[in-house]
Amino acid sequence: MQNIEALLLQRGVTKEDIIDCVYFLQAQYFDHLDKSRITYYVDSVLNKREVQQAIATGIAIDMATEARAFGSDELQEIILNDEGLYGVDEVLAYGICNLYGSIALTNFGYIDKIKPGIIGKLNDDHTTQCNTFLDDIVGAVAAAAASKLAHDRENLV
Ligand code: MG
Repeated sequence: MQNIEALLLQRGVTKEDIIDCVYFLQAQYFDHLDKSRITYYVDSVLNKREVQQAIATGIAIDMATEARAFGSDELQEIILNDEGLYGVDEVLAYGICNLYGSIALTNFGYIDKIKPGIIGKLNDDHTTQCNTFLDDIVGAVAAAAASKLAHDRENLV
């Protein structure tokens, strides 16, 4: 699998952006949550092959769409416009969340609604590149890392 961090960076997403999202989701449950602790959980999620394949698939769809090379004009327009009733981007993201249990799923729904930090930025940017799949993927990676952190909380506090 290609270097997934480099691919995310190429699309404007740093690991720190994802760490900030995990912090947003989990900080309230800790007396003190150090962002360096979160790095371990984000790395763990990003190192999983199924996660990497979901990330790469979503980004490939975004890139084919912005290059007008998706293969279906109708779907291409739907994806380019990030149409509200098109939910396949979220369904791909659930694939990541499903590997990390119910806390990942509920956190994904929450972060998708609030759109903190990089997720809001990606969601608002329709001019420089297509982010229809990427914003959900980043939300799912953050939600998955938040879930793993929550399950380890007992040992950390
Ligand atoms: Mg989306």
